[in-house]
Amino acid sequence: MLIGVNYHYIRPWYDEPYPGIHGITPEVFEHQLKLLGRVGHFVGAAEIGEALAGVRPLPDRAFVVTLDDGLREQYEHAWPILRRLGVPAIFFVNTAAIAERRVLGVHKIHLVRAWQPPEKLLERLGQSGRSGNGGQMGALSDVSLIESIRRRAAAHYNYDDPETACLKYLLNFVLEPAVRDRLITECFEEMNPGAESEISQRLYMSGEELRILSDMGCLGSHGDDHLPLGLLTPVEVQREIERSVERIEAWTGRRPEALSYPYGSAEACAPPVSGIATDLGIRFAFTVERAGNPDLRAPLHLARCDCNDLPGGKAACWEADRLFEEIPRREWYLDEHVA
Ligand SMILES: [Zn+2]
Repeated sequence: MLIGVNYHYIRPWYDEPYPGIHGITPEVFEHQLKLLGRVGHFVGAAEIGEALAGVRPLPDRAFVVTLDDGLREQYEHAWPILRRLGVPAIFFVNTAAIAERRVLGVHKIHLVRAWQPPEKLLERLGQSGRSGNGGQMGALSDVSLIESIRRRAAAHYNYDDPETACLKYLLNFVLEPAVRDRLITECFEEMNPGAESEISQRLYMSGEELRILSDMGCLGSHGDDHLPLGLLTPVEVQREIERSVERIEAWTGRRPEALSYPYGSAEACAPPVSGIATDLGIRFAFTVERAGNPDLRAPLHLARCDCNDLPGGKAACWEADRLFEEIPRREWYLDEHVA
């Protein structure tokens, strides 16, 4: 059984006024690694690659540590801990942010939400709908649609209050990317006039840091621009993955073989995404299905848990001693549309 553990923000302080940036501290990270290390063995991309190639199987109780989004704080705060404990990991990075010194839409949303109350943003989305600016939001006067969005939002963002979950779901899954990006970019620019490039360089890893991670076999792709691939056209999916792996190869001399689907939900990795990824040289990929992987069949749909769901996390679903027995087995890859 292979259990993926996924991390995003890892920083010593979370002192923004509103709940936009969720993560853990380096102390919690280290504590969780030590706790998991008592019940299983950590493996990295190399071991997974060898297991897929039939060279040697994974340990019976294996963990793979993954860190999404290419955030510099992961290099500064998580990488030294991983090195000290001898724990392998895979850092999944978005290349457009680094190549173009942009702040990705997903992180603009986090930053805007961290500095503005959620009611204010929801209100702004509503105003935009009424003014016909992105008429999609006009449909949100339909009560059954709102209820359906709230239900899906609560299931996907189970750690957030209902208002925040609804806002995040609308922004990430309901609004057309162009409409969402325009709204968020306006808010971000109002808050940080002319500062995007500087914020980007503080937020994301540098080319040199990527080279170091790549040399250690610890780098994977999280797409170019952090878009929900399953909602794009095949041509756009191809461009997103291809640009990402080619940029990583140009910077580091190595083509990544591992992918983490941006957002990772079932709809974000729906067909034909995995087939396109395979054609571009990706050998295995992670979703965010909250489950374990009893085997490596369908390696383009490996399940992975948020760190908070696992022992040592703030909403642990299972005890460490019973984790490998009790964690559900992944099922998304059985879906006839996915397999
Ligand atoms: Zn991500």
